[in-house]
Amino acid sequence: MLKKFFSFYKPHKRLFIIDFSSAVFVAILELAFPVAVQWFIDDLLPTGDWNMIVTISILLLFIYILSTFLNYVVSYLGHKLGINIETDMRQQLFSHVQRQSFRFFDNTKTGHIMSRITNDLFDIGELAHHGPEDVFIAIMTLIGAFAIMYNINPELALIAIVMVPFLAIVATYGNIMMNKAWKNMFGKIAEVNARVEDSVSGVRVVQSFTNENFEIARFKEDNGQFRTAKLVAYKVMAGTHSSIYMLTRLVTLVVLVVGSWFTFKGTLSNGELVSFILYVNVLIKPVDKITALLELYPKGMAGFKRFSDLMEQEPEIKDHLDAINVPHLNGDITFEDVSFRYDEHKSVLEDINLSIKAGETVAFVGPSGAGKTTICSLIPRFYDVIEGAITIDGLNIQDVTTRSLRDQIGIVQQDIFLFTGTIRENIAYGKLDASEEDILDAARKAHLEDFITSLPEGYDTQIGERGLKLSGGQKQRLAIARMFLKNPPILILDEATSALDTETERIIQRSLMELAENRTTLIIAHRLATIRNADRVLVVTEDGIVEDGTYSELVLQDGIFARLHNIQFQEV
Ligand code: ADP
Ligand code: MG
Repeated sequence: MLKKFFSFYKPHKRLFIIDFSSAVFVAILELAFPVAVQWFIDDLLPTGDWNMIVTISILLLFIYILSTFLNYVVSYLGHKLGINIETDMRQQLFSHVQRQSFRFFDNTKTGHIMSRITNDLFDIGELAHHGPEDVFIAIMTLIGAFAIMYNINPELALIAIVMVPFLAIVATYGNIMMNKAWKNMFGKIAEVNARVEDSVSGVRVVQSFTNENFEIARFKEDNGQFRTAKLVAYKVMAGTHSSIYMLTRLVTLVVLVVGSWFTFKGTLSNGELVSFILYVNVLIKPVDKITALLELYPKGMAGFKRFSDLMEQEPEIKDHLDAINVPHLNGDITFEDVSFRYDEHKSVLEDINLSIKAGETVAFVGPSGAGKTTICSLIPRFYDVIEGAITIDGLNIQDVTTRSLRDQIGIVQQDIFLFTGTIRENIAYGKLDASEEDILDAARKAHLEDFITSLPEGYDTQIGERGLKLSGGQKQRLAIARMFLKNPPILILDEATSALDTETERIIQRSLMELAENRTTLIIAHRLATIRNADRVLVVTEDGIVEDGTYSELVLQDGIFARLHNIQFQEV
C-alpha cells in the first residue's frame, strides 16, 4: 500500500527533491544555530574584536535570509507537492468513476463518491505533503540535537530529553481532543447549512404558513450549538498550546537552574548554557510534528485505501481487445434468446427474441415493471445480457466498441437531465463539436426557435439549475434538439412524453415523429394515442413479449392490448 502511495510522488520527483533538500538544509541550519551562539559567547566575545563581531553578525544575517528563503520554499513547495498529488488522484478518480457502468451507480451512493473525492483526498493530500519529509526531518533534528547536547554535557542533555516523552503525551492527547472537537464542529456547521438550505428552498411553504418565527427560532438553536462546538474546539486548542508552552518553559527553567550550578562548578561555559536553552526549543518542533503525524498517517492511509479500492473496481462493461469500430449502422436490431437480471434474486427478461428492421418504428406497451426500459438499456450495452445475444446489423454488440455503438443510439426519457448552463450549451451537448449553424438548425427542427428568439438573451439564456426555468414541454424540445444534433440511426423514446399534459404531449409528439423519421425507433408509451403511427406494437409483460403485431391487428385480437385500448378509449 505504501509503495502504491509513493508511486504518486513519481511525476513530481523534481519538486519532492527540491522541497526535501531545502527542508534538510533548514534543519541543519536550525541545529547549527545554538552552536554558533555558543561559539559567539565563549570564543568571540572575550577577544573584544569589534570588527570581527560585526563581520560575523553580517554573516549571520545572510544565513538568516537564506534560511528564511528556504523556509518559504519548504512551506510553499511542500504544499504544492501535496496539492499536486491530491489533484492527480482526484482527476484519476473522476475519470475512473466516469467510466464505470450503470450497475456501479445502481449500487453506489452519490454521497459515497463525493466523500471519496473531497474528504478522503483532503486527508491524503495532507499526508502526502507532511508524510515522508516530516518524519525524516523530525527524527534527524531530534537525534542531531540530542547528540550535540550530549556531547556538551551528558547530564544536562538527559534532563532536557526527559521532557520529550511528556511533550509527546501532551501533544498527542491535545491532537486527539482537537480532532474530536473539530469533527463535532463540522457536524454542527453541516446542520446549520442544511437548515439554511431547507428554509431557503422551502421559503414559499414557510411564508404561506407564516412560520418565519418558528424557522428563526429553530435556526437560533442550531446556530447556538455550532457556537458552542466551535468554542470547545478553540478551548482545547488553547489548552494544548499552553500546556506545551508551560512544559517547555518548565524544562527551560530546570535547565537554567541545573546549568547554572554546573557553571559555578566550572563544568559548563556560559555559551554552552545559552546553547542548551536554545536546544530545548529546537526539540519542540519535531515532537509536535511526529505526534501530528501519528494522527495524520492512519487517517490518510485509510483514505488512500478507500481510494485504491474504488480505483481497482474495473468497469463492468468494457471493449474487448479486438472490438471493432462501426461508424455507420443501419439499425437492424435482433435479440436472440436474451436473458437478463439485475441481481441473482429475480429474473427480469427470459429468452427474449425480437427482430426490428432498420427504419422501423416499434412501440412497447405493457404494465410498469415488465421490463420495457430494461430491454432498451441492453441495446446501448448499459448492462450486458446474461444469456443470448443482441445484434445490430448482424454484429454482436459486444464485438463493437461501446463508443461507436452508443454514438449511434439516441435516448429521450421522461426525466430530461439538463446541465446548468445556457440553452446553446445544452443543445450542443448532443454533439460537442457542433457548429453554430448545426445548433440553430437543430433548434429549428425541434420547433424551439420561436421560443428561444423570444427570450431577451436568446441562445445564451441560462436555464437555471437543471433547467429549472423551463417548462416540461420546453425541456423535452431541448432534448429533441439535442437528438437532431446527434442524429443517431437508432432512437429510443422511453415514455418521453408521459410527464406532460395531453395537449403538450400532442404537440411534442409531432416533433418526435419528425425526429423518428428514417431511424429505427423504439417507443415506450403509456398513452396509446402516442403510438398509433408505429409500424408494430409489442406487448411486454412479466412473461416476456406476449403480443406482436400492428396496432389495428392487436386491437382486433382479444388480448392485453385490446383490453388496454378499451380502457383508454372507450371508458372515457
Ligand atoms: P418498465 O420499464 O417496463 O416499467 P423496467 O425495465 O424499468 O420496467 O423494470 C423491470 C424490472 O427490473 C422491475 O422489476 C424493476 O424493479 C427492476 N429494475 C429496473 N431497474 C433496475 C436496476 N437498476 N436495478 C435493479 N432492478 C431494476
Ligand atoms: Mg420504464
